[in-house]
Amino acid sequence: MFENLSDKLDRAFKVLKGQGTITEINVAETMKEIRKALLDADVNYKTAKAFTDDVRQKALGNNVLTSISPGQLLTKLMSDELTELMGGTTAELELKASPTIILIAGLNGAGKTTFTGKLANYLKTQKNKKPLLVADDIYRPAAIDQLQVLGEQIGVPVYANRDSKDPVAIALEGIALAKQNGHNVVIIDTAGRLAIDEAMMVEIEKVKGAVKPHEILFVVDSMTGQDAVNTAKVFNDRLDFTGVVLTKLDGDTRGGAALSIKSVVNKPIKFIGTGEKMEALDVFHPDRMASRILGMGDVVSLVERAQQQFDEKEAAELQKKIRKNKFDFNDFYSQIQQIKKMGNMKDLMGMIPGVGKMMKDVEVDDNAFKAIEAIIQSMTPFEKSNPETINQSRRNRIAKGSGTDLAEVNRLMKQFDDMKKVMKQMSNPAAMASMMRRMP
Ligand code: GDP
Repeated sequence: MFENLSDKLDRAFKVLKGQGTITEINVAETMKEIRKALLDADVNYKTAKAFTDDVRQKALGNNVLTSISPGQLLTKLMSDELTELMGGTTAELELKASPTIILIAGLNGAGKTTFTGKLANYLKTQKNKKPLLVADDIYRPAAIDQLQVLGEQIGVPVYANRDSKDPVAIALEGIALAKQNGHNVVIIDTAGRLAIDEAMMVEIEKVKGAVKPHEILFVVDSMTGQDAVNTAKVFNDRLDFTGVVLTKLDGDTRGGAALSIKSVVNKPIKFIGTGEKMEALDVFHPDRMASRILGMGDVVSLVERAQQQFDEKEAAELQKKIRKNKFDFNDFYSQIQQIKKMGNMKDLMGMIPGVGKMMKDVEVDDNAFKAIEAIIQSMTPFEKSNPETINQSRRNRIAKGSGTDLAEVNRLMKQFDDMKKVMKQMSNPAAMASMMRRMP
């Protein structure tokens, strides 16, 4: 996400950071570089100019020139201004009404249906809600199928009426069913088109008028940059939506849509999609995003993602096992599955301050765990629970079975042993204290 922009901003700052004393001319030059970086990121010209004019004025007003660490001060200023540009504060969903009705709008291919599934999953698992999905696309039977598959995957029911050609009626039937079955959120996935189309707008306006939604979320593909912003503007003029969902941010190295939408459309970004999986959805926090863009990481989100994936009861069980030195390959395998669910590796690393920049040219393979998984899967249940019994002949068999080689199996066994040793030490306060004492 945002790699190109981060990189260019970093370079713009380098000039300033390298200077012993800073002059007004240096600041002006840096602002010019920053403006260029924003334009390259597909931020519209007016927004980019207003932004840099503002930062420059504040920088001079805040005595950046005489400060001891002008680079740091300017970074802080930039971070505040970027946060403001993206909406300032986090915009929460309005979920008080029961049922809360959420209408999902957007063009085909934007990621509407995927987001509908992700949102239901988020509300169910993070907000303790009982959602019902409504498939309200009467033109593409495949869209109904897709929503039903997602619903099944996340364990959320989907209302569809394949015989009806009336989107207003289908939406109302869905809401009636939700009331009957005690659902407190109804998410309506509406029909899109390939491009902005009058008939589509009229249809969705009718649905809006009939169901009176509490939230209308406009879904748009962030990779389309300024097009995304323009489409958002047209939809907003007609629908007056309550929030934007930016999808495919995992593939967006520029970030123009994220930076311009608020200032052009004046509606907040509420969610971002960061992958195809149902878990790849984040609430949008402008401050955290600014921090990531400036290469300062986002530890808060990283910890939150970990908390979402790790169940407290499971964690306690695991600790017990570690203390008793009973951590085995079953546990190891399930830990890998949980880490994988946290999202794409490069994205996760980018949340650690400083690491994103360091890793920018390194290919991080999301299949990094494949070989390890194959090796563990080739073990028998007995071997998984009793790693110490895995001798040479067993290792040979496992290597063959997993399509890896003996060296790779040996390496994993060694890593596993080392990990167990460290875990054992960390779970023993006395050993931990003695280890700390030995540290330089
Ligand atoms: P719709 O036509 O608007 O309903 O779009 P879909 O939900 O069918 O999504 C279109 C394609 O984009 C699918 O292949 C999705 O898997 C993919 N997609 C959706 N959201 C994301 C995202 O956040 N990241 C990535 N990488 N792909 C996504």
